[in-house]
Amino acid sequence: MSVGVVPDVRSLGPGPSIEASEEVIGRSLEGRPLRVRFAGPRSAPLRVLVMAGQHGDEPGARQSAARFLEGFVSDPPAELRDRVRIAVLEDANPDGAARGSRRNAEGRDLNRDHLELTSCETRAVHAWIRSFRPTAVLDVHNYPSRRRHLVARGRILDTDVLLGFPTHPAARAPGRWTNILDRARADLAQGGYTLGPYLLFQRSGRVRLSTLQTVDARNGLALRYGIPTVLVEGRAPRPGEGASERERLVDAQALAIRALVGSHVAHAEEWEAPPGEGAPRVAVRARWTGGGAQVGSWVRAAESAAPVLGEVPEALTRAQVTQSVRIPDAYAVPRRWVPLLEILTRQGFPEWVGEPPATVTVESYEFVAARAGAEAELRPVASGPAGEPLDSYRIFPTIPPGGPALGVWLEPNSQFGLAGRSELGLRRAPGSSYPVLRLHWGT
Ligand SMILES: [Zn+2]
Repeated sequence: MSVGVVPDVRSLGPGPSIEASEEVIGRSLEGRPLRVRFAGPRSAPLRVLVMAGQHGDEPGARQSAARFLEGFVSDPPAELRDRVRIAVLEDANPDGAARGSRRNAEGRDLNRDHLELTSCETRAVHAWIRSFRPTAVLDVHNYPSRRRHLVARGRILDTDVLLGFPTHPAARAPGRWTNILDRARADLAQGGYTLGPYLLFQRSGRVRLSTLQTVDARNGLALRYGIPTVLVEGRAPRPGEGASERERLVDAQALAIRALVGSHVAHAEEWEAPPGEGAPRVAVRARWTGGGAQVGSWVRAAESAAPVLGEVPEALTRAQVTQSVRIPDAYAVPRRWVPLLEILTRQGFPEWVGEPPATVTVESYEFVAARAGAEAELRPVASGPAGEPLDSYRIFPTIPPGGPALGVWLEPNSQFGLAGRSELGLRRAPGSSYPVLRLHWGT
């Protein structure tokens, strides 16, 4: 993939404005540019990526990202201007935007492609993220306020902006995300806007914090790169809402982006992951537990004026880890397992170069019993010094920040793993061995 740099550096006039520039980081399937615009010094200690438009049918999200950048460039808050470099990818799915469709030109949902990276747009974003190394990512979307099963209960969603944080237990999540949420809510309230947590209202009527899957940008980027991420969902206008309400919603979402950037700079400690999270143990199985919060508790009736989604529900279902694994020093993947290796390459996992250490302990497993979608019963078939050279393998060390992601995606029993994907060619049949080896340096 070609990555062109457009030397389009321009100052936007005198006064307090700051220098802006842009770069084309890749192309869509149909050749449209993926354009990142920057503001703030290259040497800034913090770097925030604002990514909008993964879903092509969410024009408000793209407008909000652009409006945030314009405001930031023309009137940068004094406390931010030397501290943070802003990168705005306003349109992550230009082919979808051209069609007004959620998906890209080949029908892929880009916000479900952050694990396998099958689309050229998502691949370009990841390759670029590895060089830009953001310290936070804001993933900007629009959400529909009318969901059929909520309308059936006489409810709509009416909060101007919803914020979601990583929910996979091994993903890097801000330790004090409720503080981040509360500050952003207070900032927006000054402008007369509402902000609340991003929740999933299930058809059953139960409410939980989003999803455990790692294929979306919020969980996927946080897991792969160890970057705190925030999903910024602005309410999509309802049919019949006029231009002024549409403008108001774009303003609200742009203000939420600005509030989050300010929070990342001024309250960096809140964005840190809790100590001890992640390596060396990673969660490979989890479930939603507890709670029993019902839709009616958290969504106002459409006709009422009561506050909407005002607090993070205490009774909410939360992710509980049911199995965690101590990740080894490295994983060894057979060279013949090409589809899996292609994914690891696209994800940019660094590979061991040269001979592995002189003494390596190898763990390999055989399936005793395996049912689709369920935890497999595994038996260690070898554990000890490597009996033969590892020439027929490629070796991926579990160094940070990607180490936990390798564990989540390569462990044989991970419910989030690549091994369970039939298209990658692994059958979890009893008696078959799991092809990926766990390696420990030393004996
Ligand atoms: Zn979306």
